Amino acid sequence: MEIIVMGCGTSQGVPLPAHDNPGLDLKEPRNWRTRASVHVVVEGHHVQVDAAPEFRLQCIHNGIRRVDTFILTHGHADHVLGMDDLRQFCTNDGGRAVPVHSTREGLDRVRAIYPYALTERSLTGYAAFSLHEAAGRLDLPGGGKVRTTLLPHGGQEVLGLVFEEPSTGRKFAYFTDCKGLTPEARALAADADLMIIDALRPNAHPTHLTVDEALGEIETVKPKRALLTHMTYQVGWAEYSARLAGRNPETGLCHDGMRIRLD
Ligand SMILES: [Zn+2]
Ligand SMILES: [Zn+2]
Repeated sequence: MEIIVMGCGTSQGVPLPAHDNPGLDLKEPRNWRTRASVHVVVEGHHVQVDAAPEFRLQCIHNGIRRVDTFILTHGHADHVLGMDDLRQFCTNDGGRAVPVHSTREGLDRVRAIYPYALTERSLTGYAAFSLHEAAGRLDLPGGGKVRTTLLPHGGQEVLGLVFEEPSTGRKFAYFTDCKGLTPEARALAADADLMIIDALRPNAHPTHLTVDEALGEIETVKPKRALLTHMTYQVGWAEYSARLAGRNPETGLCHDGMRIRLD
């Protein structure tokens, strides 16, 4: 399995526009964060999770040439607004609609924003999506599996995802945009080789985990390795990497373009 961190920034990205971003070292490239998403290759099948406003640039920078399945964790702007740029993947696949899996609310948002794309086939070069409501388990072509579970995120629910690759026995949990994990999510992520989890900032937020709350979840779930994502400018690379060094389980920060192979 391979995981590519396409972006790991909060909803406005890092640095913030029209803001001083106090304390943030902009000479450190890992402090430049586009909006959060990951690309997962499981049993050779390419799964794109969320499409940030920077999705086009993220694909170019990371050399993404295939999207076989798309999963939208929820319908917030920072996760849904790049979906029009799935169109080239449709074109490259002979006009086949990209299968889109999400919550009912997430699919409603896709219908509202992209009514022109709700077709099984794109013959015009535009995006085409076939919509599927996530129902606990997704069996991918090639044998990979994705377990889905709902996580609390203020007024809406977010898909938590656990990828399983039978040929290697590897497991990857992706829990972005959540105020906490549920008992079901913790059980699904048990023994994960990697868990990426929302860790917005040091101070409290009504709909996201803080860094300390995320660390608490990591201690509970005990994955082999954990990485923090969806971070604001307040979570500087050097300072927080030093703070997290030596933790058990091994914990660090995501950065844009990070690649992790689980063989
Ligand atoms: Zn978000
Ligand atoms: Zn959100």
